[in-house]
Amino acid sequence: MTATLGTGQEAGTPALDRAKLVVVGNGMSGARALEEILTRGGADLFDITVFGDEPYGNYNRILLSEVLAKAAGAAVDNEDADGWDPDELYLNPVDWYAENGITLHAGVRIVRIDRHAKVVMGDDGSVTPYDTLVLATGSRSFFPPMDGMWASRTELTPGVFGFRSLDDANGMLDHVADARTAVVIGGGLLGLEAAAGLQAHGLAVHVVHPTEVLMNQQLEADASRVLRSKLEDMGMHMHLGVKTSEILVTDGAVSGVRFTDGSDLACDMVVVTAGIRPNIGLAMVSGLETQRAIVVDDRMRSVDDDDIFVVGECAQHRGEVYGVVGPLWEQAAVLADVVTGADPDAAYHGSRLTTKLKVAGVDVAQMGVKGPERESDEFVQFSETGRGVYQTVIIRDGTLIGATLVGDVSKVAALTQAFDSRSALPEERVKLLFDLGSADDAASAADLPDDTQICNCNGVSKGDLVGCVHGGAETVSACMDATRAGKGCGSCKGLVREVVEAALGGAGAEDPADSYYVPGIPLDKPTLMHEIRTRELKSLSAVFATLAPEGREDVGSKMGLTALLRMMWPHDHVDERDGRFINDRVHANIQRDGTFSVVPRMSGGVTSPDQLRRIADVADKHDIPMVKLTGGQRIDLLGVPKEKLQEVWADLDMPSGWAYGKSFRTVKTCVGTDFCRFGLGDSTRLGIDLEERYKGVEGPAKMKLAVSGCPRNCAESMVKDVGIVAVEGGQWQIYVGGAAGATIRKGDILATVDSHDEAVRITGRFLQYYREQANWLERTYDFVPRMGLDHLIAVVVDDVEGIAAELDERMQEAVDAYVDPWAADQQEATPGQFHDALPMVPLPQVPVRSSEGAPA
Ligand SMILES: Cc1cc2nc3c(=O)[nH]c(=O)nc-3n(C[C@H](O)[C@H](O)[C@H](O)COP(=O)(O)OP(=O)(O)OC[C@H]3O[C@@H](n4cnc5c(N)ncnc54)[C@H](O)[C@@H]3O)c2cc1C
Ligand code: SF4
Repeated sequence: MTATLGTGQEAGTPALDRAKLVVVGNGMSGARALEEILTRGGADLFDITVFGDEPYGNYNRILLSEVLAKAAGAAVDNEDADGWDPDELYLNPVDWYAENGITLHAGVRIVRIDRHAKVVMGDDGSVTPYDTLVLATGSRSFFPPMDGMWASRTELTPGVFGFRSLDDANGMLDHVADARTAVVIGGGLLGLEAAAGLQAHGLAVHVVHPTEVLMNQQLEADASRVLRSKLEDMGMHMHLGVKTSEILVTDGAVSGVRFTDGSDLACDMVVVTAGIRPNIGLAMVSGLETQRAIVVDDRMRSVDDDDIFVVGECAQHRGEVYGVVGPLWEQAAVLADVVTGADPDAAYHGSRLTTKLKVAGVDVAQMGVKGPERESDEFVQFSETGRGVYQTVIIRDGTLIGATLVGDVSKVAALTQAFDSRSALPEERVKLLFDLGSADDAASAADLPDDTQICNCNGVSKGDLVGCVHGGAETVSACMDATRAGKGCGSCKGLVREVVEAALGGAGAEDPADSYYVPGIPLDKPTLMHEIRTRELKSLSAVFATLAPEGREDVGSKMGLTALLRMMWPHDHVDERDGRFINDRVHANIQRDGTFSVVPRMSGGVTSPDQLRRIADVADKHDIPMVKLTGGQRIDLLGVPKEKLQEVWADLDMPSGWAYGKSFRTVKTCVGTDFCRFGLGDSTRLGIDLEERYKGVEGPAKMKLAVSGCPRNCAESMVKDVGIVAVEGGQWQIYVGGAAGATIRKGDILATVDSHDEAVRITGRFLQYYREQANWLERTYDFVPRMGLDHLIAVVVDDVEGIAAELDERMQEAVDAYVDPWAADQQEATPGQFHDALPMVPLPQVPVRSSEGAPA
């Protein structure tokens, strides 16, 4: 499937005199090269066209581990998903290309370059001329030859995955719910990341690695041992020095792996992270010199063709092929200098590799040699296995030639500086690892030279950050936004803060932006609410016009402000619909194939034959591809196209279940006294009453509740935002701040109350306090520890601040203002509410299963 987004002609003038620049490969280095070209005035020099065979904008591949660990890819805010913002994944969304006058063909693979005619040919039949061509085709997963790996010449056996692309991550996410045991083949960086991600989904994970040393490209044996014990503490099973000989397949799907010693291990999925191979097929068929990758000179040009440049993992420079982003950024800068003529003599001389990573949550940094190589090499080694810390430095002739840090990388900046600049080292070598003695000994961020690389993932140096401060940035977050420092694996955030604070001249200074309720308005929540209230600002535009710097509207602030305004003015806020997130505009959950999921309300999880019949009829009538129970005991109709939403609601004739909003969601209940032999309290009644009363109430984040009829806790009340449990003596215990998603936390007991009514009231009061005090998107599991349980009990239960009645009153106002959004929007509330004005990037079709397990 393909999509063409933005054109040079639309954004700029039809420039007959501009040369044609074509980039093949829309991954991290292709996009980086483009950014570098644009900053050197490339938009005026070139008509730029980009081809990428992935149907997306440009995303941060490094964050795929987060995608795997946190939630279902691009599915936004699903009923069952917790806390992952997919926007963070995109380095340059599709709009960026259009805004910069770049034509993006997302989902088109270039299959041949005709170097004589100077055209590239796509698998969609397109033929595109170029004057200058950039190849940035990256790498793909390597699958070692093994029985059972492939179902056909092009398709892996169901249950086998690579780990390279967003589609790989989403494929795994589709699979994990039904899987219990995973085998990861390969214990390098990717394998351990995949293992951690799968473990986060509750799978038993086995890592199979052919040598005794994990991450053997970066680490030596002792460092690997410390990392291994840390990972085993986390529950991973390690099989080191072991090879897999076969993937076992039963009924067409993975059922286990066989080792070379003949033993078997049963599993339901296999992730192959046995290395990567550069994508050089296109270069080979087009007659370019390839060895391990496409061979380039110091200007990043193919050695065969002065008009073809190569960057990233598909480039081989002086025999080296790099597989982390740091070197790729250096290549991109040289390429841009040469291509734009900014510095035609710019030359890339290769990169000294300093790797700084977070592997399955453990910090790892490595530079230079892994261990002493000569008898005269000095070797300082520190190991504290219990804490998972291991550090070494290797010195030759007074120069640092290698260092490894596991578990504690606080010294990485100073070591990188010493390694890169080959500077003099302290007499007491141990000072390279520890701050001993006077404060003067401690290398401070201010002392680092400007070219010290601070953020490897995004290639940001200390000089870039200091330049940003000198250019007017006043906060750490402003520098992070401007340079992207700290926005990759995140392991350098502390150092970024130190460097920026040092440059601001106020080490330790608070970054005021941290306390803003939304980024676009420089006020904390209490001050913002005070200003909104006293100035009677009831619309988004009024808030921006009055309180934002120069009245500037900020897209990233709109959702949070809209929710705040609706909370503060339940009856008379002015509804500006562009301030809502897509889910809130159409009252349904957007899914990753662009369709929506519709969840009708069933208070307390109780339904009737009549409702079930209606749901079944609607599913039949509208060919709903999947009907599924949610984690909150509701029925989800998945795969509804946007244009059909109103019809589906009308046919259902049931109210909205609010399964999409930053709002009160559902109350899960057990059967309690209705049928259960153990029930101490009528949990079903209380659940229904709570849901009927607080339905749709908006908050800073979603609110999921549960009520259990006795401490056996069948409704899992301990891990909900508010969970209520019936106990002896007709009492109810109210738990707050629980979570069982990406974060797991047992709730704290807020109160034990004597009656059903009291439980309803205290729940509402707590929720109102949370609505008023919590930061935007702060779930109760962060809010409760931040505020402190004692404080919450004092305010919400004991009313020491004397505000309980006001909280109850404001919650009542919110309850009174309830409107069923599906009924209200049976006519389009805004033109185009239920139609896409712009062509969307086509996304992969979601495979739909039937309950029998066979694809429907
Ligand atoms: C899960 C994961 C975690 C990682 N973690 C880290 C980390 O912590 N630190 C680090 O430094 N690095 C990390 N990396 C490595 C880093 O992501 C890569 O080094 C980087 O993405 C390489 O960039 P690239 O542009 O060369 O290749 P890619 O990002 O792979 O981009 C190449 C693109 O070109 C497309 N393409 C290929 N052939 C064609 C064609 N013929 N036509 C059109 N399009 C084509 C590909 O589909 C792909 O989209 C990680 C990688 C993965 C997969
Ligand atoms: S929580 Fe108690 S009352 Fe409710 S279903 Fe379980 S055992 Fe029965």
